Amino acid sequence: MSSINIYTPTEEHSMLRDMVKDFTKTKVEPQAHDYNKEEKFNVELLKSLGEIGLLGITVPEEYGGSGMDTTAAVIAHEELSYSDPGFCLAYLAHSMLLVNNFSVNAGKELKEKHLESMCTGDFVGAMAMSEPDAGTDVLGMTTKAVKDGDFYSITGRKMWITNGCLDDKGTASDGVLVYAVTGENEKGRPELSSFLVTKDCPGFTVGQKIMDKLGMRSSNTAELVFENCKVPKSNLIGEEGDSLIHMMKNLEIERLTLAAMSLGIARRCIDEMVKYSKEREAFKKPLYKFGQIQKHLAESYAKYQASRAYVYQTAFNMGAEGTGDRKDSDGVKLVATTMAKEVADSAIQVLGGYGYVAEYHVERMWRDAKLLEIGGGTLEAHQKNIAMDLCNS
Ligand SMILES: Cc1cc2nc3c(=O)[nH]c(=O)nc-3n(C[C@H](O)[C@H](O)[C@H](O)COP(=O)(O)OP(=O)(O)OC[C@H]3O[C@@H](n4cnc5c(N)ncnc54)[C@H](O)[C@@H]3O)c2cc1C
Repeated sequence: MSSINIYTPTEEHSMLRDMVKDFTKTKVEPQAHDYNKEEKFNVELLKSLGEIGLLGITVPEEYGGSGMDTTAAVIAHEELSYSDPGFCLAYLAHSMLLVNNFSVNAGKELKEKHLESMCTGDFVGAMAMSEPDAGTDVLGMTTKAVKDGDFYSITGRKMWITNGCLDDKGTASDGVLVYAVTGENEKGRPELSSFLVTKDCPGFTVGQKIMDKLGMRSSNTAELVFENCKVPKSNLIGEEGDSLIHMMKNLEIERLTLAAMSLGIARRCIDEMVKYSKEREAFKKPLYKFGQIQKHLAESYAKYQASRAYVYQTAFNMGAEGTGDRKDSDGVKLVATTMAKEVADSAIQVLGGYGYVAEYHVERMWRDAKLLEIGGGTLEAHQKNIAMDLCNS
């Protein structure tokens, strides 16, 4: 089979996949078990992704990025998740939620100040949309920003923020793209703006590092607190009141790359299932000779391939812009994340007791897959969005 296909549409994509695969095998895989077990974020490893151009993968070259398209972002997330989805989530929070959003929506001056260091890894950051009392109902956010001379004053709390802190002591990351309410339109709906809040802004603190997560344990999740936090006016991203559109557009590439992470998880689980079912014997036969085990293998493979085609077709449609038809960015996440969890579940079943312990990897993949049905939009949110778009078009 040619190496040029919908999954690697050009030589450049093919080289990218080989490079990320090699990085994953040599650098990500060896640390995955320990960092997940200890709930530690490998920030140095994340920074080293800057050296191979992954942190600014979708950022134009003039700002220090790699200037690649949506398919490239999907390739990077698929490959990194093969070994450590938790680490990949930290990568996604930086490169897609912060950097891609900032690159598309911030003004030239602000980009000239920060974007290059975001691409090299000198600036590691996050995006804060969710709050303790507002997740799916994002317009219910209560964090407010009020203009005060040359500053905005931000007050509120953000919850579940990946890369919100760098370590167990709660050291803040270099900066966070924060959404806040800055007004109300004539229909009484909140108007959102977004700001780059850097770690030195007075009034910004890390509330807590959230511990004991089910999965994605090699990424840090934090609560962030803003108490009359003073942010220079120049850190406003785009125009005041425009950020609901920024958010909706960036959610598309976020959901697509979360779906891509599901592909890495599923492929790893299929590989582990195949290996084990050839090696392990029961009743004097390798496991793969049993019909019920064949069902796990065959259905996992076919479901993975179906999701993979949908993810890459959607990436192709989104092209260099990173946006397309919202039904499909919701759609790929709806099907691929559940597929990954089901495939990981099959893998645990095929490995029997060994599948239930960390040494065989698949139980971690199952725990990590579960987050993908919640973060970046719950399954129910995707169902609602797709149905509404289908019926209202
Ligand atoms: C590990 C982790 C990392 C995260 N990283 C980030 C991050 O970096 N930045 C960030 O901003 N957020 C982040 N999040 C937050 C994540 O996006 C939210 O958890 C998610 O959007 C769901 O919001 P919620 O938890 O408030 O649940 P809720 O919105 O309260 O939902 C609870 C349940 O109600 C259902 N529900 C809600 N509304 C409806 C409806 N209209 N119809 C039917 N069912 C409904 C939901 O589907 C869900 O089943 C992260 C979360 C986790 C767990």
